[in-house]
Amino acid sequence: MKVVTTIAELNTFRATLPNPVGLVPTMGYLHEGHLSLVRRARTDCASVVVTIFVNPTQFGENEDLDAYPRDLDRDFDLLSAEGVDLVWTPMDEEIYPVGYQTWVTVEELSQILEGHHRPGHFRGVTTVVAKLFNATQSDKAYFGQKDAQQAVVIQRMAHDLNFPLEVIVCPTLREPDGLAMSSRNTYLDPKQREAATVLYRSLTAAVQAFEVGERDAEVLRNRMSEVLSTEPLAQPQYVSVADPDTLEELNGPVERALFSMAVYVGKTRLIDNMIVGD
Ligand code: AMP
Repeated sequence: MKVVTTIAELNTFRATLPNPVGLVPTMGYLHEGHLSLVRRARTDCASVVVTIFVNPTQFGENEDLDAYPRDLDRDFDLLSAEGVDLVWTPMDEEIYPVGYQTWVTVEELSQILEGHHRPGHFRGVTTVVAKLFNATQSDKAYFGQKDAQQAVVIQRMAHDLNFPLEVIVCPTLREPDGLAMSSRNTYLDPKQREAATVLYRSLTAAVQAFEVGERDAEVLRNRMSEVLSTEPLAQPQYVSVADPDTLEELNGPVERALFSMAVYVGKTRLIDNMIVGD
């Protein structure tokens, strides 16, 4: 496994990799969720490239950029064991050189749900992902359903900008008690960690209601909120029943829906989602 930092090194090593190349973009501090994407890429592609970059432009001013957990040596060990060919750990100064002023924005999809509560977040995501797509010249790129809106936004960007690349969305990996794996789970103390299972319990309650025939979007949203309200350590920021493709909030009867939420447990902001009717 080769580890490179500069774009010049990346270009040199990329030229030696057999196609198709599968790309797994990450912010590091890897867990089984990330590794599930790597394994899928390893199965599908002749070469696997993983990027580790805590992208400053997707963090808001009061968010956790400085506190974001990092452990590159551990990440390299995990990726090497998965048979990854190339790891690129870009430098901030090369991704955003002095005078940088070019941005990729997916207009409407970036403004709702997560985008509404994290203004500028998806502009940062789509800009960096476009740069990673360009620089690595990948054929396929792997993203997690855990970040459902991110997946929709990136698919839209890839389509709109004619990237010659297939975006593949992989299932959410969960801890045994249902909590979606996330690098941010390390922020939780033991009590908060226990409380954090309420996201899974809330989503599951809505899925179960849907499965026994409940179709009213408002009732399904209320079901999620009800379960969240049983956990005193959890403070919901939003609870949504939306169209899985357009991400528009739904009212009345639904046949397919993305149930999603952002919930603070202490200072940690957790997101999770499930899709029904697909
Ligand atoms: P991050 O390092 O948080 O930016 O995540 C990198 C990629 O891993 C993104 O495509 C995420 O959606 C994906 N990912 C994060 N957590 C999970 C999970 N629990 N299951 C599956 N994919 C995940």
